[in-house]
Amino acid sequence: MEIYSSHINKLIEELSGLPGIGVKSAQRLAFHLIHMPKDKVAQLANAIVTAKENVKYCKQCFTLTDTELCPICSNKKRDNKTIMVVENTRDLGAYEKTGKYEGVYHVLHGAISPMLGIGPGDIKLKELMARLREDVDEVIIATNSSLEGETTAMYISKLIKPTGIKVSRIASGVPVGGDLEYIDEVTLLRALEGRILL
Ligand code: ZN
Repeated sequence: MEIYSSHINKLIEELSGLPGIGVKSAQRLAFHLIHMPKDKVAQLANAIVTAKENVKYCKQCFTLTDTELCPICSNKKRDNKTIMVVENTRDLGAYEKTGKYEGVYHVLHGAISPMLGIGPGDIKLKELMARLREDVDEVIIATNSSLEGETTAMYISKLIKPTGIKVSRIASGVPVGGDLEYIDEVTLLRALEGRILL
C-alpha cells in the first residue's frame, strides 16, 4: 500500500535523483515544498527552468555562463596566454574567489575515469587542444588530487608536452581526494604559487 499520494511520490522520486539527496532528504524537501506558498513554489520552479534554458557553455573556456563569452574570457585585463584547467565551474569559482589569478580558464566538465567509463573524449579536452593553437605561454593543470584528477592531469601533460607549451600542476598542498571547492583560499593560492613544472 502506498503511504503518500502519487503526486508526492513522484516529487520524492524526482528529488532523490539529485546528487547528495537521499530518500529521507527528498521526503523532507517534498513536504517542505508542499507547505510553501504557491507563489514561492512557482518562483523556484521558474528559476530552475530559466537557468536551464539560458545557461550555456562559454565558447572559449566552456564554463557555464549566459553570454557567448563569459565575463572572464571577455575581460581584456585577463592574461589570455595562461590557461588554468579545472574540472568544473565550481572549481573555477573557487580560484576566482582568491582574486589573485589573472589568467583565463578551461573547464573540462569532468575527469578521466576508466572505472566509470569516462574517457578523454567525454570531457572538453579536444576543445583545450584547439585553444593551444593560439599563442599560449602556460597551461596550469588544476584538476582535483583524486585518482581521476591525477589521471587526467597526467594525460593532459603528455598531450601538451610535444607542443613545447609550458605545463604545470598545482602543488599538492591540496589534500588528496580533496574537492577544490571546499578548500580555503589561502591553500588554493599556495597550491597555485607552488605549482610544479611537468
Ligand atoms: Zn569563458
